[in-house]
Amino acid sequence: SVDASVIALNRGTSDLQVLVILYDVTYLRQVEQMQLDFVGNVSHELKTPVTAISGFAETLLAGAKDDPQTLDQFLHIIYDESSRLTQLITDILTLSRPDSGQVQAKPVNVQALVTDALQSLKQPIAEKQLTINADVPDDLAITTVPAKFSQVVRNLLNNAVFYNRKDGVVTVTAKADEKNLKLSVQDTGIGIAENDQERIFERFYRVDKARSRHNGGTGLGLAIVHDMVLQLGGDVTLNSQLGVGSTFTVTLPLTDLPSFYKG
Ligand code: ADP
Repeated sequence: SVDASVIALNRGTSDLQVLVILYDVTYLRQVEQMQLDFVGNVSHELKTPVTAISGFAETLLAGAKDDPQTLDQFLHIIYDESSRLTQLITDILTLSRPDSGQVQAKPVNVQALVTDALQSLKQPIAEKQLTINADVPDDLAITTVPAKFSQVVRNLLNNAVFYNRKDGVVTVTAKADEKNLKLSVQDTGIGIAENDQERIFERFYRVDKARSRHNGGTGLGLAIVHDMVLQLGGDVTLNSQLGVGSTFTVTLPLTDLPSFYKG
């Protein structure tokens, strides 16, 4: 798309000269459209749990609460839906809030951070009887924004666990060359079909909505990974085969962060 400004020169004289300035606003229009789509999706995604919460509460109040089994079942649904609502709000804020200006890079030990992230997934890992392989040198460090880097690792591990099969394997590998850290998270899960792979980092894009919701997924985990990795001056790639598994690889500068984060 093109916007134009027309300026008349030599106004008042007989030979009118006109200056036309054309602006290519294709990119701006795309950004505007993406923002509108995001707001539309956000409203829809927020309404889903709210509708469930108020619907089940209303049914309980109308008399269903007198049956202890129904009461218990509905309260669990209400609890799960409000947890999802909280997670959605947290994720939406993470994506929309600009950095406060207080954010600063610090040296981070990669192994400690991976261990922490795995620790918080202890329960689903045990339930699925997954094997975890971590190949991370204990002295590997990166100077980065700890909260962002940690969120990237957590979101990738979270998916590697949730989209895995029972008795599956999650392998975390990290190594560095002179400039970059390469961290990959590999799983033996359901995999991602080729035509979904390019859309997987979009906000609210899910291959299987029902499965994602059932796992408590917000559809924003990978969009957050993508945003944060770019903010930290790196990138993320995906290699996946349907029915075999997926490998997400994050490349981040070891020390050479975007200047915004330097102390
Ligand atoms: P969600 O909350 O749905 O997991 P994400 O943004 O983290 O949202 O992921 C988007 C979609 O990508 C998921 O719904 C799922 O379809 C697919 N996906 C993400 N990670 C994996 C994985 N490790 N294996 C298979 N599919 C995955």
